[in-house]
Formats: sequence, C-alpha cells, structure tokens
Amino acid sequence: MLIQELNQLYGRQMPESDLPESLAQLPTLERRPAILLTDKHAQCQRCGQPIDRRETQLPDGSCYCGNCIQLGRMRSTDNLCSLPEPNRFQK
Ligand SMILES: [Zn+2]
Repeated sequence: MLIQELNQLYGRQMPESDLPESLAQLPTLERRPAILLTDKHAQCQRCGQPIDRRETQLPDGSCYCGNCIQLGRMRSTDNLCSLPEPNRFQK
C-alpha cells in the first residue's frame, strides 16, 4: 500500500518505506522505530505484539513482525511514521 495523499497519513502509522519521498521530507513527520529490540525479544510498535526474533530473523540480522504482516512486512530496520492531526493544534 502506497500513501500518496497527505490526508491518508493523518492519525495513522506507516512504515517509512511506504512513503513517497515528498511525504518523507515533511518537517512535521514523526518517526519512531517500528520494532523495539531487546536482548532476546522484540515488540512490534504497530500492533504491540511480542516478536520472536529467532523465528522471524532475516538474512541481514533484522527481524519482522508476523502478527500484522498482512498490513505489509515491517522490519526492525524500518521507522514508523505518523503525522499529527492538523486540527489538534488549532485554537
Ligand atoms: Zn506487528
């Protein structure tokens, strides 16, 4: 799934690899690691599920979340991006 329009991104969290360059350069874009890594385990920041790093390890040493893979494979090397809703800051 490719996000082309800004309003598709509001309030959502998208892997940075899904963003076109024009959106990835927005100064208001917030990024955080897609997967929090600890010694043996990892936690997906999109669906919140724990990840077994050994079961999902990729050749380059990163891992991915198998729980929300239907939304697109998200690797530990990815960032999750979100944009604050614009009306959140209006007075
Ligand atoms: Zn997940």
